[in-house]
Amino acid sequence: MTRLKRCRICKKEGYIYLRHANLPLCKEHFISRVHFVVQDTIKKYEMFSKKEKILVAVSGGKDSLALWHILKELGYDTEGFHIDLGLGEFSNVSKQISENFAEKHGIKLNIFSLEKELGSSMENIIEKSYEKPCSLCGTVKRHLMNKIAYEMGHKVIATGHNLDDEASRLLGNILSWQEEYLYRQYPVLPEEEVLVRKVKPLVFLSRKELLMYCKANEIEYADMSCPYSKGARSLVLLDVIEKIEERYPATKIRFVRGFYKLRERFKPSQYVELHKCPGCGIPTASEKELCRFCRIKERVKRDVLAS
Ligand SMILES: [Zn+2]
Ligand SMILES: [Zn+2]
Repeated sequence: MTRLKRCRICKKEGYIYLRHANLPLCKEHFISRVHFVVQDTIKKYEMFSKKEKILVAVSGGKDSLALWHILKELGYDTEGFHIDLGLGEFSNVSKQISENFAEKHGIKLNIFSLEKELGSSMENIIEKSYEKPCSLCGTVKRHLMNKIAYEMGHKVIATGHNLDDEASRLLGNILSWQEEYLYRQYPVLPEEEVLVRKVKPLVFLSRKELLMYCKANEIEYADMSCPYSKGARSLVLLDVIEKIEERYPATKIRFVRGFYKLRERFKPSQYVELHKCPGCGIPTASEKELCRFCRIKERVKRDVLAS
């Protein structure tokens, strides 16, 4: 193993080498850089202020726990929420770790169970559906996240999406020219009627930086991947992006930052007609009457009644 260079700022022992910035840093200066990047992102995209309460979506993984930790360190007023998806051991561990973090830091964590909200576990929904697990789970999670925040009276939801997530998602959206999705890929989506504001303060920090942030702060996180994520397209895209980054450092950050700057150009010239879902009241572009979430819910109900 090659020894790390000394910290560029204080010349103490190096903790991390940020290749995309050609910057070796010690633990202390790395932590302050992470805080600076997040604070700067919050300010630049006008995500929220210190007067607002931020609801943090906590999965128990490194990204969401790092986000919660950083916001707390920066002095924001936060509360967490965790959705227990009912995916066996994976969900049990994720929930336990989220609870441990909340307890250790004395912050409130609200726990919701999919079984209670929907009458079925995600495992059961996936097993009985022909649709792709990640797509199903994504729809359900996004819907519940919004519903929970709205009903609790919160105005902002913060999620732990990192630079790697954003770069791979952007690549995916471009590969299939998803015009609507492209425009909606942004660090902040404003509130609209029943839709709560969604913010992603970690979009300029890589997976590796968040991992090293957790280590530096002794944050225990669930180091497991979802049992249903094997073979998912998102993982292939993540892998491709990482391979390009290895050859050409700073590709990820330039790709994502550049897109945010050009985003207005991708504003769809014709908006897809939205209608209010009669089941939940959320605006939907679905051709069917009910939104996708409500259709999944209907299926669950029918299944329960039939058995
Ligand atoms: Zn230093
Ligand atoms: Zn609906």
